Amino acid sequence: MLKHSKKIIFLLFIIFFVVIFKFSVLDSSQEEAKESLNLPISKTDFFMGTVIDINIYEQVSDDVFEDVFDILNSIESNMSLNLDDSEISKINANSGSAEVKVSPETFYVINRGKYYSSLSQGLFDISIGPLVKLWSIGSENARVPTQDEIDATIKKINYKNVLLDESTFSVELNDYNMMLDLGAIAKGYAADEIVKYLKSKNINSAIISLGGNICAMGVKPDSTPWRIGIQNPFSDRGAHLGVIKVENKSVVTSGIYERYIEQDGVRYHHILNPFTGYPMENSLASVSIIADNSIDADGLSTSVFSMDVEEGSKLIETLEGVDAIFVTRNNEIYITSGLEGNFKITDENFELKHKN
Ligand code: ADP
Ligand code: MG
Repeated sequence: MLKHSKKIIFLLFIIFFVVIFKFSVLDSSQEEAKESLNLPISKTDFFMGTVIDINIYEQVSDDVFEDVFDILNSIESNMSLNLDDSEISKINANSGSAEVKVSPETFYVINRGKYYSSLSQGLFDISIGPLVKLWSIGSENARVPTQDEIDATIKKINYKNVLLDESTFSVELNDYNMMLDLGAIAKGYAADEIVKYLKSKNINSAIISLGGNICAMGVKPDSTPWRIGIQNPFSDRGAHLGVIKVENKSVVTSGIYERYIEQDGVRYHHILNPFTGYPMENSLASVSIIADNSIDADGLSTSVFSMDVEEGSKLIETLEGVDAIFVTRNNEIYITSGLEGNFKITDENFELKHKN
């Protein structure tokens, strides 16, 4: 009997240790899994002159990142102005003489660009190329042009002379020396393509940043919304003036801080007014757009930046699922109705104002 109970006690001990051991192993492996989910798997690269940051909050293989950078390379080879054999360069080289058949992707981006050109009544203009080239802001050849140069150049800008044939994917510039420039929407398009690809791989929780164009895919790993910082237009990149919560949205900012040159104490930034030929001068320092697609957020951020607070917010209020944050040069912030109760200021130098 004694022998028997000793055996039982011994067995109980064994079971006790096995259970304890098993639980501690399970616990630590769960802990590891949790930790690896909270840490994004990230890659950073350079594309179309800007920094690309991909942060995926799920387990992925390296192939995914390779595919993403292949997608970006293919967009660049179709749409870059810096490559002589890109489709955009071919269209520009045939300006005033012939139509050029392009890929459905390039056609789509030009078509969206033409849409934003007419929506903003030409303040955004997809054929602004000659003026962008004249100023060359952001490159080492940047300079303030003469008035004569500006007068001659703005004559060539007119999106209505960009003729699109949807049945053949052909594009024709209907005047000599015209030049398309997709700089205001190409990054947004590229961001959308990355999101589409990641979704096709069943990745649903990621943050993508293409030189300030942000796509917040899905929600955070803990199922709460992403918190996206809004850039302070008077500080270096990464300094935020406020924060919004979003799920499955793109947030794109256009502002005077991105690229500029300084001459005789005057700062000239890179969003140009096609009617005056000079950088857009109004009350704004930056505009952030929140929309479902990045190409729309990008097109609208440049368009609405050109329209100023009053006109810009009127336009945004008519668009379903789109919101905007306007930051003026005297530190006032205006938001559209969809952001009431969501946008929070994090820098007390700024003040949230309400339109009356
Ligand atoms: P960023 O490229 O800094 O993110 P935007 O999306 O606002 O900013 O695009 C600015 C770019 O768009 C310029 O570098 C230029 O290539 C082009 N651009 C400048 N002014 C205009 C305009 N009025 N309409 C259309 N495109 C413009
Ligand atoms: Mg833009």
